[in-house]
Amino acid sequence: MSVLVVGSVAYDGIEAPAGKVDRTLGGSATYISVASSYFTSPVRLVGTVGNDFDDRDTRFLKEKGVDLEGFKVDDSGRTFFWKGRYHENMNNRDTLDTQLNVFEHFDPVIPEVYKGSRIVCLGNIDPNLQLKVLDQVTEPRLTICDTMNLWIDITREALEETISKVDVLIINDQEAAELTGETNLVKSAKIIRKKGPKFLIIKKGEHGAHLYSDRFEFSVPAYPLASITDPTGAGDTFMGGFAGWLSRIDKIDEENLRRAVVYGTVMASFCVENFGTERLAKLSSYEIESRYDELRKLSAIPPRN
Ligand code: AMP
Repeated sequence: MSVLVVGSVAYDGIEAPAGKVDRTLGGSATYISVASSYFTSPVRLVGTVGNDFDDRDTRFLKEKGVDLEGFKVDDSGRTFFWKGRYHENMNNRDTLDTQLNVFEHFDPVIPEVYKGSRIVCLGNIDPNLQLKVLDQVTEPRLTICDTMNLWIDITREALEETISKVDVLIINDQEAAELTGETNLVKSAKIIRKKGPKFLIIKKGEHGAHLYSDRFEFSVPAYPLASITDPTGAGDTFMGGFAGWLSRIDKIDEENLRRAVVYGTVMASFCVENFGTERLAKLSSYEIESRYDELRKLSAIPPRN
């Protein structure tokens, strides 16, 4: 199944206890596309960048097999820039700078050949734009959406509409609490699921991820890492692994949704091992499958005696 990814393509500046980078390729659509590309083809990226976008980065996306027909270079300005600083515990971060640049005028126009994409990933962008994308796609088998605190705060109504229309919502525990005013995840998941999505995945950082649906629930721990260099994009990378796996297997049932959550977790664990997309850029399928097996062993609960 084809995957359509819509979101931000950015340059990020990152400060973390492990070090800092001034300008590295990032953005929600970048992470989702690169992670998905390890599982499936084509991955179709709709996004916009400015006149400072490096040819090297375009080449990198192409080498990963990302289809760039919907990727627009807007010569009128620079690429979206975001800068964040992580606290010592890596769970909290402060946004130090957001320069929208050409992203301010981003209007996702889905190319004709992309409209029939079967899996649609709505990366973290203004929910009004996510709704525009949903209006343009013709036969999605699965629509998956991410969001962030900013949109919960300033575009609540549009976000509620997006959530009511998508099949899968992937958010983190803090966003779930903010969306519902409820910090208990069991209760907040119930409230969010009533808003529409068939499947809800709540990511809990180093504590793993939990999938909620009518028929089943599934929980997977985070892959245990001794050190984390940069958590930027981990959530987007999770979505990429999740969507990529479902696209590859072409069968959306309970088993494969469970596997997709594990692949999402595996990909996110690689993402955080280095700054930006550094680690994601160079993965082998052996590394991916080995981590899948390790997670499986880690959480195998034997039957009662
Ligand atoms: P995450 O760590 O999953 O929240 O994703 C981080 C990525 O989101 C970074 O690469 C940023 O470039 C991008 N980002 C930050 N703020 C925004 C925003 N307001 N809209 C779209 N993308 C953003």
